[in-house]
Amino acid sequence: MKVAIIGGGGREHSLALKIFESKLLTELYVIPGNPGTQKIAKNISLKSDDVEGIVKFCTEQNIDLVIIGPEKPLTLGLADELLKKGIKVFGPTKSAARIEGEKSFAKKLMMEYNIPTANFKVFNKDNYDDALTYLKKVSYPIVIKADGIASGKGVIIPETYEDAKEAVKECFVNLSFGKAGEKIVIEEFMSGQEASVFAITDGDDFVLLPAAQDHKRIHDGDTGKNTGGMGAYAPTPFVNESDYDFIAEKIVKPTLKALSDKNSKFVGCLYCGLMMTSEGPKVVEFNCRFGDPETQVVLPLLEGDFLELLNSSANGKINKDAISVAENKSSVCVVIASNGYPDKVKKGIEIFGIEDAEKLDNINVIHAGTKIKDEKLITDGGRVLGIVATIKKNDLKLCKETAYNAISKIQFDGMQYRKDIADKAIKNNL
Ligand code: ATP
Repeated sequence: MKVAIIGGGGREHSLALKIFESKLLTELYVIPGNPGTQKIAKNISLKSDDVEGIVKFCTEQNIDLVIIGPEKPLTLGLADELLKKGIKVFGPTKSAARIEGEKSFAKKLMMEYNIPTANFKVFNKDNYDDALTYLKKVSYPIVIKADGIASGKGVIIPETYEDAKEAVKECFVNLSFGKAGEKIVIEEFMSGQEASVFAITDGDDFVLLPAAQDHKRIHDGDTGKNTGGMGAYAPTPFVNESDYDFIAEKIVKPTLKALSDKNSKFVGCLYCGLMMTSEGPKVVEFNCRFGDPETQVVLPLLEGDFLELLNSSANGKINKDAISVAENKSSVCVVIASNGYPDKVKKGIEIFGIEDAEKLDNINVIHAGTKIKDEKLITDGGRVLGIVATIKKNDLKLCKETAYNAISKIQFDGMQYRKDIADKAIKNNL
């Protein structure tokens, strides 16, 4: 099979490594890819949101399956355009991708189908005053979200009415989130541990992959600004067997049905961002694609043929037996970011020590924001590398130590990383 993966981050490097293991694979392309994917696939220098260019390339090369990583090409309708040309796609159409791209759409769907989530109300610029009146009645903290995609920055959690008023002003008057913030969702604050669960689906049937826990804040102890994700581990002990059953029956099944009912059948990876509340799992958000960095820790736990799983889903009948979850494996990914991330960063700084880290047992160095220039590996983004440790033991503490030992081999000016990835789970198990 000729396969093309769209995207150039850590998630896509992880996907490429897993797909590379498949016996079904004959050729692998990554568009645009990165220096990590270059070692196992052909990188094609097109932008991941260049819909026209990608469709042309995949048609000319007779690609059998396209796996779309990032949300942007999905919300732009890349899957629709490829399908029109008869090319199989793992990833939802534009209309199904609204589950991520429009929060108000996702929330209304959940309300209609009784899917557990925080209570909410939707407001737009025209009912600014109504939003303020509503905010006078609610209890705090409260959660205010820009409706559209705002790269993880569109969520504000004010502690007081005054702060909430400011947040609404940011959206409606200062237009801080652009078009994404012209409509907002105001929702109840939920407490609990967060978990991410991927459902791989053909639109009707699905399999759940092991739950991971992301670390979104920049600093240890979940402090500082929100980021794209500073690390993850899997499986997380905060999701137990009965939670998986609940997530399958009460969250994923009705969500897929709802999307089908609305002529938006969802084929791909439905990412369920969950809060494990005292009343059970509730949906924080849906994403229409694999999470980053969760993919980096979930895929190493799988055995079998992952490409067969995705290909059968894209073909309309998922082969759930294609994979199984390895017993007693643990995986930890620590993201190394550039100085200044998640704000503006300086790029082009030389990276040392990757070969030494890669020589270690049970370590994969995943490239995210790297580039090769004059035969040197340099930084090329906010999140630069993901150091992934996977061990054949249900022992997150040892797994964490394995990852941090590998990090000690890597060096570049201004590198920053969290020191507490997986600690919540490790403390929970003590
Ligand atoms: P964007 O659309 O800007 O990319 P996002 O999709 O990352 O943002 P969410 O995942 O909905 O936004 O929220 C980001 C984080 O905010 C969550 O991971 C969670 O920590 C917190 N959060 C969101 N909603 C709630 C809630 N109702 N209660 C408590 N915390 C919440």
